[in-house]
Amino acid sequence: MAFEYVPVKTVEDALAAMKKWGDEGKIYAGGVALSILMKSNVFQPGALIDISGVEELSGIEETGTGGVRIGARTPHREIETSPLIAGRFPLLAEVFHNVATIRIRNAGTIGGNIIFAEPASDPPAALLVLEARMIARNTGGAERAIPASEFWTDYYETALEEDELLTAIEIDPLPEGMRTAYTRFTTRSKEDKPLISISVAVAAGDDGKTCREARIGLGGVEAVFRRLRAAEEALQGKELAREAIDEALAGTLGDLEPLTDIRASDSYRRQVTPVFIRRTIEKAARLIG
Ligand SMILES: Cc1cc2nc3c(=O)[nH]c(=O)nc-3n(C[C@H](O)[C@H](O)[C@H](O)COP(=O)(O)OP(=O)(O)OC[C@H]3O[C@@H](n4cnc5c(N)ncnc54)[C@H](O)[C@@H]3O)c2cc1C
Repeated sequence: MAFEYVPVKTVEDALAAMKKWGDEGKIYAGGVALSILMKSNVFQPGALIDISGVEELSGIEETGTGGVRIGARTPHREIETSPLIAGRFPLLAEVFHNVATIRIRNAGTIGGNIIFAEPASDPPAALLVLEARMIARNTGGAERAIPASEFWTDYYETALEEDELLTAIEIDPLPEGMRTAYTRFTTRSKEDKPLISISVAVAAGDDGKTCREARIGLGGVEAVFRRLRAAEEALQGKELAREAIDEALAGTLGDLEPLTDIRASDSYRRQVTPVFIRRTIEKAARLIG
């Protein structure tokens, strides 16, 4: 497995190296997924473009709107422990706290996680619910923002082009009064990858009980992460209580296409998904008030 190691210090250098190496070059962020893929011969890149020295790709900063901009190379652990994230987006702090083990959280990066797009991942469902934007720059220098809802396109596939470097993830503040919750379920150890990973955001109307807006992000269940728009619409105007939530979900999850893998069968996932969604909505609803 011979390859050239190309450490870079700036985004411009990373893009220049991507242009030079084309299909042969692979961005190396935390290397958690990439090293496994290389050892198992799924990838045999001609060059590894190491972006760990690119300062502008790391860190979390507040944006002018009161949201956050997270550098694509920011490790999971930094997001998990950031006071800014804990204050603005506690959902993200909780989600990243639950990814794998502390060793993996120290190495793995938010960009690597969402680009790898393994269905058994936690951050994508949360980023869908927070309506994040993925900021990408191509080797020609053009920048674009990809809405989270358009980022994951297929099994292990994203909308990121071969000539694009993910530079940041931007998140705007949530609407007033919106509360979030997260549930992951594993069948083996707590640190296992999730067979279901749900993030939810809900806001209530003036009575504090009726759903004004609901957002549900689903991960781990299907090949592609997505928002459950039909269920979200069905919840609007309903009471945020067990029976009403079950009723709203019952008619809207018929199009689920659950995976069968080492963690669970499709029929198992089909059965547990509505239960975990309802519990997660109830958890978020308890925070309203
Ligand atoms: C044992 C184990 C347990 C795990 N458990 C969980 C879990 O519970 N929950 C969970 O969500 N995840 C889990 N993971 C997945 C882990 O979080 C990801 O593998 C990790 O986040 C990948 O990040 P990385 O920075 O190491 O990416 P890398 O391996 O460096 O890169 C992954 C891919 O993204 C590309 N890439 C990376 N950054 C960029 C960029 N800025 N621009 C363009 N392309 C880029 C790379 O070229 C590569 O194709 C687990 C992994 C392992 C090995």
